[in-house]
Parts: sequence; C-alpha cells; structure tokens
Amino acid sequence: MEDSKPEKETHLNFIEEIIEEDLRSGKYTSILTRFPPEPNGYLHIGHSKSIWLNFGVAKKYGGKTNLRFDDTNPTTEDVEYVDSIKNDIKWLGYEWANEFYASDYFGQLYEFALVLIRKGLAYVDDSTSEEIAASKGTPTEPGKDSRDRLRSVSENENLFIRMKNGEFPEGSKTLRAKIDMAAINMHMRDPILYRIKFASHHRTKNKWCIYPMYDFAHGQSDAIENITHSICTLEFIPHRELYDWFIANLELFPSKQYEFARLNLTYTIMSKRKLLQLVKENHVNGWDDPRMPTISGLRRRGYTPEAIREFCEKIGVVKRDSIIDVSLLEFCLREHLNKIAERRMVVFNPLRVVITNWEEGMIDEPIAENNPGDEKAGTHTIPFSKYIYVEQDDFMEIPSKKYFRLAPGQSVRLKHAYIITCNEVIKDADGNISELHCTYNKDSRSGSDTSGLKVQGTIQWVSIDHAVNVEVREYERLFTAENLALEEGDFKEYLNPDSLNIISNAYAEPYLAKASANERFQFLRKGYYILDKDSAPGKLVFNRTVTLKDTWAKMAK
Ligand code: ATP
Ligand code: MG
Repeated sequence: MEDSKPEKETHLNFIEEIIEEDLRSGKYTSILTRFPPEPNGYLHIGHSKSIWLNFGVAKKYGGKTNLRFDDTNPTTEDVEYVDSIKNDIKWLGYEWANEFYASDYFGQLYEFALVLIRKGLAYVDDSTSEEIAASKGTPTEPGKDSRDRLRSVSENENLFIRMKNGEFPEGSKTLRAKIDMAAINMHMRDPILYRIKFASHHRTKNKWCIYPMYDFAHGQSDAIENITHSICTLEFIPHRELYDWFIANLELFPSKQYEFARLNLTYTIMSKRKLLQLVKENHVNGWDDPRMPTISGLRRRGYTPEAIREFCEKIGVVKRDSIIDVSLLEFCLREHLNKIAERRMVVFNPLRVVITNWEEGMIDEPIAENNPGDEKAGTHTIPFSKYIYVEQDDFMEIPSKKYFRLAPGQSVRLKHAYIITCNEVIKDADGNISELHCTYNKDSRSGSDTSGLKVQGTIQWVSIDHAVNVEVREYERLFTAENLALEEGDFKEYLNPDSLNIISNAYAEPYLAKASANERFQFLRKGYYILDKDSAPGKLVFNRTVTLKDTWAKMAK
C-alpha cells in the first residue's frame, strides 16, 4: 500500500530479540516466564526491574508468567514475606498465571536426585563442609575427588533414602553431583545437591529434613513448569552450565536461562540482607519506611507504579553491570505526578499577614484549578480573609536585587487571589518580625484582574482562621555515598543522619483535609506529597514523595 503509515520504530531489548527469534523459528509457539523471589525479605526497586522484564515480555508476546517462590531455605523464609511480595507485584500492575512454590516440587526433586544416583551421576559424601570447600580447588587448580566419589549406586541410594528419613545428623552428609572436579567452571566440580537440615519450613513444616540447593531446584522447577525463558541476573552466568546439565541428564523440558544486568542505583542499598539489617537495628521504621528502596517503602512514599515501569523501560535491559542515577527514577516520578497530582497550598513556616484594608469578618472564595495541566480535574475554592499566613522566606526586610516577593513597599500576587503590597513590618520586643501589614488591590482578583498592576512574584498563602494543621515528613537520601559498592567499611557508616525532617505543624488550605489515601498532591512551590498511614482524624500526616526541582534535567544538559 502506498500511503500506509510507517511502522513506529521500536527498539527491542536483547531478551525480546531472543523471544522474537524463538517464535519466528517455531522453537516455541507460546512464551512462559517466571518471577522467582525468595521469600526472605521485602521486594526492592531492583526486583521491580526483574518483574517488569519477566511479566512485561511475556505479556508483549501473548505469553504468561508464573510467580514462583524460591523457598528452598527454610531458615530465612516467612509467610509475611510471601504476602508482601504478592501485594507488591499486584501493585506494580502485574498478574501471574500461577502461584507456585519450589517447595511444592520437593517430592519431584527428590525423585530427580534418585534418577541421578541410579545413573551414577550423584553420590552421598560424608565430607564436612570444610573438607568440601578445601577440596574444591581454585580457578587455576583442579579440585580433589572426595573419597566417597567411588561409592556404589546401591550404597548411594540407600544412604540418600536414609538421609531423607532423618537418620543422620545435620552436616554429616550431602548429596553431590558427580561431574568433574577438574572442570574449569568451579560450579561443575561436584556441586552439592542436597543438605540435611532439621528446620521447619514455612509450608512443608517438618516433612523434610533434606533440602535441595538453589542450583538443584531452580532449573528443574523451570522445567517442571515448562518455562521457556528463565530470565535472571548476571551472577547466574556461571550456573548456566549446571542448569543445562541437570536438564539434559534428567531429560526434562529444555528451559533456557538468560542473564541481564541487575539494577543498581546511586545512594541506594539493594540487598535484602542489608535492608533486613536496617529494619532489625531500627535505622528505619520498618520495611515500608518511606526512605527504604523497598516497593512497599516507595509506595508509602508516594511513588506510582506507572513511574516505576516507565523508569524500567527507560533504562532498558543490558548485559553489563552499571549504576543508574537515582535522579532518573525521580525524573520519571515527577513526570507522572505532574500529570496526576492535584495542587494545594500549604505554608510550612508561617508569617502572619494582616490585610489592613480588608473588612473584618469578610470572606472571599477564590477559585483554584485542581491541576492546571488537566481541565477535567476541576476546581475548588479557597477561603480568603483578613488574616493569612505566608511563608517566612517569601518576605525579605532588605530585599536583594532580584527578589520579587514581599518586601517593604513591594507587591506580590497571592496565588488564585489578590495582589498585596507590604506597607509595614511589625516587630516584637526582641526585634523579631511578628507580622506584616499589607493592603490588597480590590481590582486584582485572579481571573478578573482589571488592576493593570504587574508583579513578578506569586506566592502561596492560607487563611489563618480556615487553615488545617498537618504534619509533613520530608525525606532525603538514606545514604550519603553515591556508590555504596565502592565504599570501604560497614554500609551503615554511610547512613544519612538527616534523612528525615519532620515539620510537625504546617498550615494547609482546608480542602486538603479531604485527602484520601491514594491521592497525590503537589503542594505549590514545595513538591509532591501523599497522605501517610500514620494519619489520624484531626492529625493528617503527609510524606514528601519528591521535590519539585528536577536535578536530572540539569545533569542531562
Ligand atoms: P538480593 O540480592 O537483593 O537479596 P536476590 O537476588 O537474593 O536479591 P531474589 O528473591 O532471589 O533476590 O530475586 C528474585 C529475582 O529478582 C531474581 O531473578 C533476581 O535475579 C532478581 N533481582 C534481584 N535483585 C535484582 C536487581 N537489583 N535488579 C534486577 N533484578 C534483580
Ligand atoms: Mg537470592
């Protein structure tokens, strides 16, 4: 066709290229991925990259994604984590086809181990973990065969069944694959498949006292579910050979592993183990502390799933480790919040202003648009009266040259309302400014201004009698070091002591009292805010999600 529209140019990431090729070649007719969190902590922003990729590509190609809890380590796992993980994935906007648990496959994995034993490809080893480590060799030196490597199939089978039956103490025996102690890939040097652990599992309770290692569980779980593309992070590259070895020797569905670079962010810790430490040692107030990089922390802070997904899209999928500037995440957030956040006026550090020519008791109700970028968002009114608060730093007694806000003799526009002029500065006995006396121009009302006056500054204000008191919590970066991976010593030495700043008594226009839990607000000239769960009737608490200023754009220049 002559005038058919040119196809929108799309840039595929390398996983999408692989999938398109697999579909084109007929290797697969449908795509099935999985997201495999270990339920040993809350998900963080790094996981959202993996979620976005696993769920995103499957959806793009008409496929599905399983949620599979990688729960092979009974000592660190908990249902609290399972619930939070499910909640976070849903919040990010994704739906799983099935909810599975690696522990559901313990029976099957046990059978797989017996298959390997019978093929002469696995043996029970009495070596201690220290002996196993010592005989592993180094990248340049081969390891040493264990004395138990020559055990007969029947002895191995017998011992393994007795391991399962709980006849041997913890640590006394392991099941190992019999591969090659001289393999160049250290992971192929007779890796451990099973260890004995008398621990209660969050799902299987005390049914098992042997637990499979990650490597023996992951690929087989993928194969059992017929996962086509098993997407994981770069550190699993050396595990891939083993992943393929199990699948080949057990003759299972040929799932394939593909690796991409994990997301690292400046000023951010991305390890569940370290995040748990912050929670346990009370450096933060729980997993959902708004300073935490957890998805629950970001949610409470006011992040939107749209912003997080857009961020993942923007940074793309690469095969080389790097660290992304956290300002890019904030940039994506601002872009979205700017579109959806309703505007409100809040004064943090009040300075009392008396409008001397305003009649006592008279109230005007100027109209404010809820979002100047979105007409559909509607309007609300703001009570205006003789006594108002403005921000202390919107007044300067001796103004500098380009100071366009209030100063003696200087005029300013009160947002949505009138132009006022400062005539008198009132001070207390100590010489501190206690209030300003101003006059308003009655013809200058916003929307119907016939005054002909031109002022350069516009400031927010609230009517004192109508204002509602709110608490505002402002957050700074949790860490002071840009790249924590490069810093020596304990990561907690880099905690920012000023990461939380509470303004316990700010004054908001009364309409803010109608705020609901998920609503996003822009407090004019301040930033973006969301209601916090600590709010109580009569005591609203707001979290600052992000400031208005866009440092990323500056840096990009
Ligand atoms: P952490 O090291 O933070 O504790 P983890 O890798 O142990 O994380 P898992 O629960 O095993 O956490 O991760 C589930 C999935 O999320 C895995 O496929 C893992 O590769 C992926 N993932 C974890 N961290 C990141 C990250 N920073 N960027 C991208 N993907 C990640
Ligand atoms: Mg892990």
